[in-house]
Amino acid sequence: MAPIGVLAVQGDFLEHRNMLDSIGIESVEVRLPEQLENIDGLIIPGGESTTIVQLIDIYEMRQPLLEKARKGLAVWGTCAGMIVIAKHLKDKRPDPLGLMDIVVSRNAFGRQIDSFETDLDINGIDGPPMHAVFIRAPLVTEIGNGVEILAEVGHGKPVAVKQNRILATSFHPELTEDPRMHAMFANIAHSIQ
Ligand code: GLN
Repeated sequence: MAPIGVLAVQGDFLEHRNMLDSIGIESVEVRLPEQLENIDGLIIPGGESTTIVQLIDIYEMRQPLLEKARKGLAVWGTCAGMIVIAKHLKDKRPDPLGLMDIVVSRNAFGRQIDSFETDLDINGIDGPPMHAVFIRAPLVTEIGNGVEILAEVGHGKPVAVKQNRILATSFHPELTEDPRMHAMFANIAHSIQ
């Protein structure tokens, strides 16, 4: 079993590593294309999506990452990470990787509810609802065939989606004490394809 990589170019990658640590899952920081070898999954953290995409391109990771994902690398984007892996954005920038067939709108919850917290029932996660922290969160506005909605807020606002081995959440499980989403991703990442 290989470790879970955490893209560590910008954003709250340390919080993801600490969460994985707390459940005994080995992780490594990924900043260069060769570090995409020998990992079972990659987490793209929250932060600033334009900066993250810029750094992915500066470090020439876009093509190797697309290639790895095509071969089955599990990828999980949280918040800015969801923007990074989307197929299309409603916004002009950044140019996303297109790993998941979703259209995403940045900062779409609006000014009044810029940041908020709520409890969510998430498909595939047993036990009580998960506390979810949204910070200038993206909204999924369209989903393609084969994208599964795991959780939504309000009516028809997906905030956790999955397509094969790719996972995206608008919120930040790494900013809570609840490791269940990390355990779920590790299960996907470590499962035989
Ligand atoms: N609004 C940020 C962006 O567009 C994402 C915010 C976050 O990751 N908490 O990149």
